[in-house]
Amino acid sequence: MLAAMPQLTSTRRERDEPGSPPPVRDRGDACPGALRLHAADDGALARIRIPAGLLTASQALALAETAEHLGDGHIDITSRGNLQLRGLDERESVRLASALDAVGLLPSPRHERVRNVLASPLTGLDPLGSADVRCWAARLDELLCASEAATGLSGRFLFALDDGRGDVAALDADVTLIALPGRPSRALLRVGAEAEGVSVAGEDAAGAALLAAEIFLTAVRDSGKHAWRVRELPYGQALFAHRLAELLGSRGVTAQRVTNPAPAPAGTAPAPGIVDGGGNRCALSVMAPLGRLTSSQWRQLASLTGEHGNSELRVTPWRGIVVPGLSRSGAGTWLHELDEAGLITHEGSPWLGVGACTGLPGCARSHRDVRADASAALAEPATGRMLPVYWSGCERRCGRPRGDRVDVVASEDGYTVAVQAEGSTRERAVPDGDLAHAVASARAERE
Ligand code: SF4
Repeated sequence: MLAAMPQLTSTRRERDEPGSPPPVRDRGDACPGALRLHAADDGALARIRIPAGLLTASQALALAETAEHLGDGHIDITSRGNLQLRGLDERESVRLASALDAVGLLPSPRHERVRNVLASPLTGLDPLGSADVRCWAARLDELLCASEAATGLSGRFLFALDDGRGDVAALDADVTLIALPGRPSRALLRVGAEAEGVSVAGEDAAGAALLAAEIFLTAVRDSGKHAWRVRELPYGQALFAHRLAELLGSRGVTAQRVTNPAPAPAGTAPAPGIVDGGGNRCALSVMAPLGRLTSSQWRQLASLTGEHGNSELRVTPWRGIVVPGLSRSGAGTWLHELDEAGLITHEGSPWLGVGACTGLPGCARSHRDVRADASAALAEPATGRMLPVYWSGCERRCGRPRGDRVDVVASEDGYTVAVQAEGSTRERAVPDGDLAHAVASARAERE
């Protein structure tokens, strides 16, 4: 294994990987939002929360227009399935807010940064899930936006609503709901990495998730420290399942504690292509190269939904978009058109599994234009089963995915290429001229 990388020189445990010690916070978080813009080198940046990744076609079109008129004409998808506009003028922040508010993307200004809710992107579209969790997502967002306490959550606190296929359950959320098989619907609620969970009726799932977040906030307050995520709580502050079951019971909600629940099956991101929905129905799954779409690509996706009677787009935390509710007969043509437009539409795409942070010129911390270098490296053909690769302009490695991958990190002296597997990293510095080959070799896992 990895014989093509004999120069690997070190083994170390990554910060913020599973098993690594949690960071200690000494302040509130500075996550950008739609109303709290971040000053980047290429202008202001706005992050717009899209709970469960669900957007109507009219919201999507409004975002394309906003990106063109107020931003740099692009829409970025984040690793949490949120959207970012870049190149904004801070003096236009009021125009930006009113454009978002006009299409329902700012239902509660005080909660706009805490609506971090992931959901299985194919929920309800294929038979792999145990429930359609979109109803949980809508209810949770409603409850979040009505909760005064929830305004105290950090912009990094994350909910995940998994329909039972095990895709978003693996994304390290703070509060995870997993649909259980059977009728009527039930959910297993887990908080952080606690071994114990709580099982509740599907109709109580959203309320229980919010209550878990509120218990977290109480634990933070009692600790007298800052914590943005559940894993940052001082030891002994957790015990959520016990407290949660007790509080739910006092509110007349039946909740059963579940010790060491069976893990959800290990699901994956929707593959690019046609998702069969049974009969003549299907969905299209596409991905954005390096997570960035032009406004015209975005419009094309939105118009596809309008033309065929569907009004929904689903943004995925794997930087993709699912367009549901299409007829099977036209799917091949539409997929071809999206491919022509530059989106990732099939598993043979060289862009599949390639990610990058902002890098130069948007981020002053970056040592390199990593997006350009990542694109250039695709010229090197790679064979075999490909590991995902993530390019970062500096050691912070913003937005890198979890799991096994190749990390390519820029420094003052060039790049380091590292294979990240099972919590440890083996890495080597690579001269510029050898970069594409070194990355391709590392990704190919050659025997
Ligand atoms: S990883 Fe470094 S260079 Fe890339 S966006 Fe984050 S801070 Fe900027």
